[in-house]
Amino acid sequence: MIKTNYHMHSNYSDGKADPEDYVKTAIEKGFVSIGFTEHGPTKFKKPWELKPENVGKYFFEIDRLKKLYADKIEIYCGLELDFLPGVESNDFYEHDLDYRIGSIHYFFDDEDIYGVDCNFEEFKKTIFDYFSGDVRKMVGEFYSRIIQMVDKFRPEIIGHFDLIKINNFNMQFFSEDEKWYIDEVMKVLDYISSKGTMLDVNTGGITRGYLTEPYPSAWVLRESARLKIPVTLNSDAHRPEHIDGNFELVTQILKDAGYREKMIMRGGKWESSEL
Ligand SMILES: [Zn+2]
Ligand SMILES: [Zn+2]
Repeated sequence: MIKTNYHMHSNYSDGKADPEDYVKTAIEKGFVSIGFTEHGPTKFKKPWELKPENVGKYFFEIDRLKKLYADKIEIYCGLELDFLPGVESNDFYEHDLDYRIGSIHYFFDDEDIYGVDCNFEEFKKTIFDYFSGDVRKMVGEFYSRIIQMVDKFRPEIIGHFDLIKINNFNMQFFSEDEKWYIDEVMKVLDYISSKGTMLDVNTGGITRGYLTEPYPSAWVLRESARLKIPVTLNSDAHRPEHIDGNFELVTQILKDAGYREKMIMRGGKWESSEL
């Protein structure tokens, strides 16, 4: 399998090392193509985001590395962008990036955010304060925002498709076997299968110890394989040593789900490559 990773965060957002450290680790581990995806700036100015004043520096640094290591590895510059319904434009979708990951990390009101990608206590606030305890409504809203995001911005990749399960250990809020949950997931898969959007098959939750399955879950991958939805295999690395975290395990999960190929970027274009 050709080693690639298109979901990585350096210290330009909430990662723990310089971009160059990731590049060096990637070369040591035999990667042929990688992409950086810092969290794009939003109006909430959260500590995990790329700071607006560093955007130019980030583009410049990735471009420098691209040229410096051109004979060893292909390096691409992306961003992981939050979708904020009601915010009519997102300049980064117009920007000259190699690709974009579109993600839903939280809900929000006028004042602040209500986390999905957060600790358990904050997640409970999202359910009980934002959704008045209505878990189905929360899940429905999460998946409908993915559809709205794809419809409006057409990100090349959907980040951690079923992130809503992050705090659902022991299935305490919902079961992925319930028909209503399956229906919500299938609505999105059916929609994106007609758009050519790729899924971020993301090992980060396993590597960081929250989950035993990737995003998306194995059963979702079986459905997406059936619908021929293309996938990228990524680690959502926040430190260089996690660059290929659990790739072997999740490659097997992908194969068991029916995938034979993943998407990789070569010469600036997406192409399929054998798993
Ligand atoms: Zn993310
Ligand atoms: Zn990420």
